[in-house]
Amino acid sequence: MKFTYAAAPHHIIFGQGAVRQTAAEAARLGGQRPFLVSTAGQMPKAAALLFEIDFAGRFEGAAMHTPVDVSAHALARLESVGGDLIVSFGGGSATGLGKALAVRTGLPLIAIGTTYGGSEMTALLGETSDGVKATRRDPRALPAAAIYDVDLTLSLSPATSAASGINAIAHAVEASYASDGNPIVSAIAVDAIAALAGSLRRVVADPRDVAARSEALRGACEAGLCLNGVSMGLHHKLCHMLGGAFDLPHAETHAIVLAHAMAYNAPAVQPAYAAIGAALGGDAVQILDRLARDIAPMTSLAALGMPEEGIDRAVELVMSKPYPNPVPLDEARIRGLIRRAWAGEAPAAV
Ligand code: NAD
Repeated sequence: MKFTYAAAPHHIIFGQGAVRQTAAEAARLGGQRPFLVSTAGQMPKAAALLFEIDFAGRFEGAAMHTPVDVSAHALARLESVGGDLIVSFGGGSATGLGKALAVRTGLPLIAIGTTYGGSEMTALLGETSDGVKATRRDPRALPAAAIYDVDLTLSLSPATSAASGINAIAHAVEASYASDGNPIVSAIAVDAIAALAGSLRRVVADPRDVAARSEALRGACEAGLCLNGVSMGLHHKLCHMLGGAFDLPHAETHAIVLAHAMAYNAPAVQPAYAAIGAALGGDAVQILDRLARDIAPMTSLAALGMPEEGIDRAVELVMSKPYPNPVPLDEARIRGLIRRAWAGEAPAAV
């Protein structure tokens, strides 16, 4: 066995009430006048919970896929008030804006996560300009501290919890068979999948089940570590492309595509699926397909709004940019995968 793994300098504060440690974290990082970013929906909660911090200013316009014009507005606000540290509060949209500001200013970022997307654990920044999303890795984008407080997730709706949770499972699944994978990340990936798959039904049935929420959040944190540690394959590229080309919601697209992409890769990744299956107690693809269908409100790309005529365009886009994937990309099989995901059919290897 041979592998290379450079662990990222994560600083994770996890636990019920952890958000109350934000002020101490800001002080540890030398921030006297932090700048707070969030979505409009989450800002009132953020401001109320972080009342002890003397913020230099706030920006509540964070949006999905981190549009560069939104980041430009936020940057102008940050520069005008002279903040010295960034605090993001929310899911991947708020974290994405925090990262965009951290990369542009070099200021440290404290990311307080409220979904299962896992962006708090990564140095990845995906930004959208003129409808095209480009993702890059930048060490300045890695939050200097990631804060996970289960209480903040209790308000996440069952539908968003399900989609976001399966998005997290997808990070770990693809990490388990990554072209640059390693046994350390693979072990964390299996643990993350087991934690999420074992808790998401309970989370959806009772969104205020703190024990289930804690388990899901721990799995999401680990899945984010996996996403940061190795390269993603077909599933993530497909979701990225579908989201950009047809304006589909990020987490929901992941929830629909995952089992289809897993089935496509199945012939080449049996050891990885055997490890996941052993942790889940059965066939990895079937169990995760069943989970997504049971808890996610949408089970087809058609239901998310992708037009049937878009299938050809999607196939063209996937085939136009090759990348490492366990099973090489075959146009006819990719068309079959996208068609089945569009129609909400069962996943199939061919
Ligand atoms: P999101 O941040 O877009 O949040 C979805 C909605 O839920 C928003 O309206 C938000 O205000 C609301 N919300 C968030 N937390 C809530 C809570 N606890 N209670 C009630 N409402 C809440 O969703 P997301 O799926 O976390 O993020 C998606 C974005 O993150 C995409 O742009 C995606 O590309 C990006 N992302 C990036 C990475 C990375 O490593 N760079 C990883 C995962 C996702």
